Parts: sequence; C-alpha cells; structure tokens
Amino acid sequence: MVRNRYVVNRYNLVAGYDTIYALGDIAYMVTPSYPNGHPQVANVAIGQARNLSRNLLYLEKNKPMKEYMRYGLDGHSG
Ligand SMILES: Cc1cc2nc3c(=O)[nH]c(=O)nc-3n(C[C@H](O)[C@H](O)[C@H](O)COP(=O)(O)OP(=O)(O)OC[C@H]3O[C@@H](n4cnc5c(N)ncnc54)[C@H](O)[C@@H]3O)c2cc1C
Repeated sequence: MVRNRYVVNRYNLVAGYDTIYALGDIAYMVTPSYPNGHPQVANVAIGQARNLSRNLLYLEKNKPMKEYMRYGLDGHSG
C-alpha cells in the first residue's frame, strides 16, 4: 500500500496477486508522467475501468492486454 492505495501495475493488477485488480481512487499506479501516482479524479477511475474491462475481454480471448494511459501519455495508444 502507498498512502492507503493498492499498488497496481499498468493493467491495474494488484502487486503480488494474479487475479485481483484495483482501479480509481484506491489504485496507486506509477507511470513516467505520474511518478507519484495518478490524481484521484473521476476521469482516471472511468478510464481505468474502461481499459480494464477491455483487457479482461482480451484476456479471455488470449490477446495481449493494453496498458492504461491518461490522455495518451506514457506510451502508444494501441
Ligand atoms: C467532495 C468531493 C468532490 C470531488 N469532486 C470531483 C470533481 O469535481 N471532479 C473529479 O473528477 N473528481 C472529483 N472527486 C473525486 C471523484 O469523486 C473520485 O476520484 C471518483 O469518484 C473515484 O471513483 P472510484 O470508483 O475510484 O471510487 P468511488 O466513486 O469512491 O467508488 C467506490 C465505491 O465503493 C463503495 N465501497 C466502499 N467500500 C466498500 C465495501 N467494503 N464493499 C462494497 N462497496 C464499497 C463505495 O460506497 C463507493 O460507491 C471528488 C471527490 C470528493 C470526495
């Protein structure tokens, strides 16, 4: 935990777990543009929810998952 938030990777997977995801305010995700985690605002929660829901479908179809990025920062847009 960092400041009462679960540490997650760019797919919102909670560190140390294979099947537990966290998103939005409760998630602490570090990216080059957000070295101290993302702000706890609605568009991050909505964006991470959208990305994670797509990724769970990709997972089911054995397709590669996509990293979350805010405003197209921190990598390709896929
Ligand atoms: C006063 C205030 C003003 C804000 N204004 C803005 C703004 O203007 N613009 C903006 O972008 N953001 C704003 N925010 C931040 C924004 O509300 C949050 O970033 C956003 O709601 C995060 O969404 P979330 O889904 O991560 O968490 P939440 O919206 O907090 O959703 C979490 C949900 O989980 C539920 N829950 C908690 N514990 C449990 C449990 N044990 N079992 C089951 N359910 C549980 C809660 O009841 C809640 O419904 C504001 C926040 C506050 C407090």
